[in-house]
Amino acid sequence: MIKKIEFKNTLDYAKFLDEQDPLKSFREKFYIPFMHGREAIYFTGNSLGLQPKTTQDYVLNELEDWANYGVEGHFHARNPWMPYHEIFTQQLCSLTGALPHEVVAMNQLTVNLHLLMVSFYRPTKQRYKIICEAKAFPSDQYAMESQVKYHGFNYEDAVVEVSAREGEYTIRTEDILTAIEKNKDSVALVLFSGVNYYTGQLFDMPAITFAAHKAGAYAGFDLAHAAGNVPLSLHEWNVDFACWCSYKYLNSGPGGVSGVYINERHSSDTDIPRFAGWWGHDKENRFLMEQGFKPIPSAEGWQLSNAPVLSMAAHKAALDVFDEAGWENVFTKAKALNQYLWHVLDEVNAACTDKPITIITPRNEEEHGCQVSLLMNRDGKKIFEELKKQSVIADWREPNVIRIAPVALYNSFEDVWKFGDILRMFLVTR
Ligand SMILES: *Cc1c(COP(=O)(O)O)cnc(C)c1O
Repeated sequence: MIKKIEFKNTLDYAKFLDEQDPLKSFREKFYIPFMHGREAIYFTGNSLGLQPKTTQDYVLNELEDWANYGVEGHFHARNPWMPYHEIFTQQLCSLTGALPHEVVAMNQLTVNLHLLMVSFYRPTKQRYKIICEAKAFPSDQYAMESQVKYHGFNYEDAVVEVSAREGEYTIRTEDILTAIEKNKDSVALVLFSGVNYYTGQLFDMPAITFAAHKAGAYAGFDLAHAAGNVPLSLHEWNVDFACWCSYKYLNSGPGGVSGVYINERHSSDTDIPRFAGWWGHDKENRFLMEQGFKPIPSAEGWQLSNAPVLSMAAHKAALDVFDEAGWENVFTKAKALNQYLWHVLDEVNAACTDKPITIITPRNEEEHGCQVSLLMNRDGKKIFEELKKQSVIADWREPNVIRIAPVALYNSFEDVWKFGDILRMFLVTR
């Protein structure tokens, strides 16, 4: 790999990096949206990943099998629908660093977060608190709020939010660990995102998990912005549970199926309270339709409904592209793209006397993935409009943050250079 130190902020150099890129052919495997008559620079793979060109075929195959077999497709489709979720086991293990009986694809993300809290947030009078990051994604905040209320507690008392310090943008690990230690007699659950959606901060999941366990609490993570973005070793880190969505970095289509991880010490324990449905019931006698729920002794035992095959087909198409590329290669390229982006942004700032961009994402590579969040100290909205005019699809967050996330499979070094060039032209000339 090219050393950071040698980076040059020129179009020729960006093109040179693209030529060296072992994954360069993967861009061709995706539909890149058009904007103002040209291919967009798509930097919102952290929000909705692009469509692989193979997705249509995967979905059409299921529609065909449905047309040809009707209900018999449950057994005779090319990928029989009955055990459809099982086609993801190996790929979800590679994605999250899990054992096969620790993962399953099911439902959608917020639904799964609730199901997991039903099992792993069972507060007592003594031990009832949830420790989480301040400014978590709203859906997670609502899930936590409604869960604590459901158990008769109130948010202010039961939910301990760890904030960034005054004048800082991201949360110090030491402050998270201190909050856990301080609440060691009352904390039931430590629930963080893997990567914060706003700042792009990657949390120290092993350290948080260790501290949670030491305090007698469970550790769970919402990996919506981490899955497919950063390497994960959930089993090795001893995480209790996690869930993620498949439509951000995982390119599986709007509202795509979610995934969950439940550590084997829990997933094999059929006595853990849960909300049950027939798909979580013992496969041998599911169709005897008898009374008495007998959970499958694995993460599959948390399933409720039969598989949403059409959205799962899109998920399969997307994961097969990652398999073809190899996760190692994906993360290596993502890192190189990201390093180039920081280099380019630093040069834009250096070219302006007033340092117009404050990067609120942690600079340390251990503390971020693909996303970089730019706090614009001036002209924020105007720059965002200019980017749009020049076919850059980025994300605007009030009051003045631009979030971008160049990803390995379909973004290029040229995309990054072009983005920097637009910023530089706009910021330096005024
Ligand atoms: C994207 C995202 C969600 C979205 O939840 P859905 O149930 O998929 O709509 C929830 N939580 C986090 C942290 C997210 O980043």
